[in-house]
Amino acid sequence: MARILEPQLRRALVERVRFCREMGVYDFYRRAAPANLGELAGNASAAVDVVAASVSEPQPGEDMTARKSAVLPAESNFLQIISPNPEDEVSDPATTLRLIREDLGECTRCKLHLHRDKIVFGVGDPHAQLMFVGEGPGADEDAQGEPFVGRAGQLLNNMIKAMGLRREDVYIANIVKCRPPGNRQPERDEADTCSPFLMRQISAVKPKVLVALGATAAKNLLAISAPMTELRGRWYDFKPAGSDASWAGARLAVTYHPAFLLRDPRQKGEAWKDLQMVMKYLGMEPPRKAAE
Ligand code: SF4
Repeated sequence: MARILEPQLRRALVERVRFCREMGVYDFYRRAAPANLGELAGNASAAVDVVAASVSEPQPGEDMTARKSAVLPAESNFLQIISPNPEDEVSDPATTLRLIREDLGECTRCKLHLHRDKIVFGVGDPHAQLMFVGEGPGADEDAQGEPFVGRAGQLLNNMIKAMGLRREDVYIANIVKCRPPGNRQPERDEADTCSPFLMRQISAVKPKVLVALGATAAKNLLAISAPMTELRGRWYDFKPAGSDASWAGARLAVTYHPAFLLRDPRQKGEAWKDLQMVMKYLGMEPPRKAAE
């Protein structure tokens, strides 16, 4: 049964989790309940000590790479209580996305902020059934603050149009929201730091279908590394941890990144097959011109 925490305890824990997040700690694991857990909810200082013992302030010269996770006690709804997101009590997707954007702020959580002009949050219909996830912003996206607006974006628009949809009908985001220098792939720590915000966006939109654009997006979403030939042509179940229990989650398909298709247009037919698989699942008929 959910335990009601005293306001003082709740505030202290919330502040501690905020501190952890600012320090780049996003993963919290449960451990066996301490013998005196029953006293935890009624004793703010004891509870904070438990968390503080696991995630104390960094010491001079300390290797922060060793501090990737924090250990918290195993109370039934502890994580939900102490890790509130600003959008947790909000059901409207547009408001939820706005709150996530506000929470992101002028983000400096990873080193990619050093190279960006604008944060590229995401764009589209907050109620979209279909969501595309790319790798990261390029130069045009960085300049305009919107995903997929350059040449690759034009091709993505055409792909969406071929499906009988408009760009405004779908939601588009990336694994990382700041441009990697030289358009390199996002590094592991960058993707890990940024992806919690993408997961919250996905949880807000609750699409029926997610399409990962390219191997990097697929690798980060599915946590598997495989060549595109193995990733494409099948469905994956996808549901971010902590998302609404009433949402069954999305089905995820993988196709080629439009930038790759610009380099190798011969693969466009294969990408169209992937999109047809998506359309079939969504019960969509291709517009007559695209189908011919
Ligand atoms: Fe923040 Fe994401 Fe940009 Fe890194 S890539 S600075 S985590 S918004």
